[in-house]
Amino acid sequence: MTTKAQSYLTHFRNIGIAAHIDAGKTTTTERILYYTGRTHNIGEVHDGAATMDWMEQERERGITITAAATTAKWKRSGTDQEYVVNIIDTPGHVDFTIEVERSMRVLDGAVAVFDSSQGVEPQSETVWRQADRYGVPRIAFSNKMDKTGASFELVLNDIKERLGAVAAPIQYPMGAENEFKGIIDVVRQRAHFYTNDLGTDIEETDIPAEYADKVVEIRAQLIEAAAEVDEDLMMKYLEGEEPTVEELVAAIRKGTIEKKIFPVLCGSALKNKGVQLLLDAVIDYLPSPLEVPAIKGKIEDSEDTQEFPADPEGKLAALAFKIMADPYVGRLTFVRIYSGTLQSGSYVYNATKEKRERVGRLLKMHANSREEVTELKAGELGAVIGLKDAGTGNTLIGDGDDKVLLESIDVPEPVIKL
Ligand code: GDP
Repeated sequence: MTTKAQSYLTHFRNIGIAAHIDAGKTTTTERILYYTGRTHNIGEVHDGAATMDWMEQERERGITITAAATTAKWKRSGTDQEYVVNIIDTPGHVDFTIEVERSMRVLDGAVAVFDSSQGVEPQSETVWRQADRYGVPRIAFSNKMDKTGASFELVLNDIKERLGAVAAPIQYPMGAENEFKGIIDVVRQRAHFYTNDLGTDIEETDIPAEYADKVVEIRAQLIEAAAEVDEDLMMKYLEGEEPTVEELVAAIRKGTIEKKIFPVLCGSALKNKGVQLLLDAVIDYLPSPLEVPAIKGKIEDSEDTQEFPADPEGKLAALAFKIMADPYVGRLTFVRIYSGTLQSGSYVYNATKEKRERVGRLLKMHANSREEVTELKAGELGAVIGLKDAGTGNTLIGDGDDKVLLESIDVPEPVIKL
């Protein structure tokens, strides 16, 4: 049961973006930060040139890429509901496999970016297995639909054959390569045409006649995938009845979280196509911190474990997942709070190092600004200034609480090497 104190967590998504090198992780992340910042951080920008400048400046300053966790806000299209989307930087290179494993524990869901002209590449497979091991729910973004050789079907087939997962095509591209014009939302049966270069003007229409048959076929695949995990939907499916949009979304979401159903989207990050729909899909299909299993901690000198459900009123349990040197404030310790509330100026116990430490200032990192806050609550991520001893993978608990160590990076199996 969700208490009143936990209710804000329904509108939280803590996600990572994983990809094979060159598939477009950086470009997709930049575009996500651009679209989320456009309405919330930098105000209204009507001029296309100005927004592109902003992206260039960001690239030069490198903030979007170097923050280990960036807090963004997104209003789900067609609603007034605002969501907090924390984007956790997952290292993209195979050499950092342990770091990938560690960051997997910090996120609740992931967007896997594929290059539509390449399908599933070896490193995508590695990251996929790691995500499997940690039970991280995923959605797929079939990127570079504008590129020569791009094929949405290739990605769908590879997901099935190489990754052994059920692909749920929630979108279908209208055209490909130079002719990539827009995206069909297969769930809602609407077409989205991009009418300007920034991808900010979208014309929504009925499905064009030329795609009608294809959409029927793709939608049947989607419903079949969803019916596998939802008995009610299966009954309807067998009786030839159409599910409602809400029923279909709920079933796919359930499948994404509990089973290996993998909603597949498409677009071109470079051409600003599909990124807003991707953000909507993050909200629709990836879990909130309340929907993932509570993290466990190992109690000292015992075989017992303790669970820490996401609750700001619970005992403090946080994991330091990245240390960074900042030219202005010195050492920044990035933390995810699983349970309880971390207060600036308080004392915490570093259970890994067996040391009491004082928390200095607390920051939330945004794409183009930093926000000083007095507390970080369960489900939130941010940076602590002032921790002297905390290292990557360390557990932070309340000063005086029984010692527990969060299960973080005890990798149970050998790390897969390519
Ligand atoms: P990363 O290594 O996964 O972070 O990939 P990047 O985002 O750096 O992209 C790798 C290359 O692919 C860059 O040259 C990008 O400009 C290009 N790229 C990224 N997204 C797209 C896309 O949607 N279409 C095309 N044609 N190129 C893209």
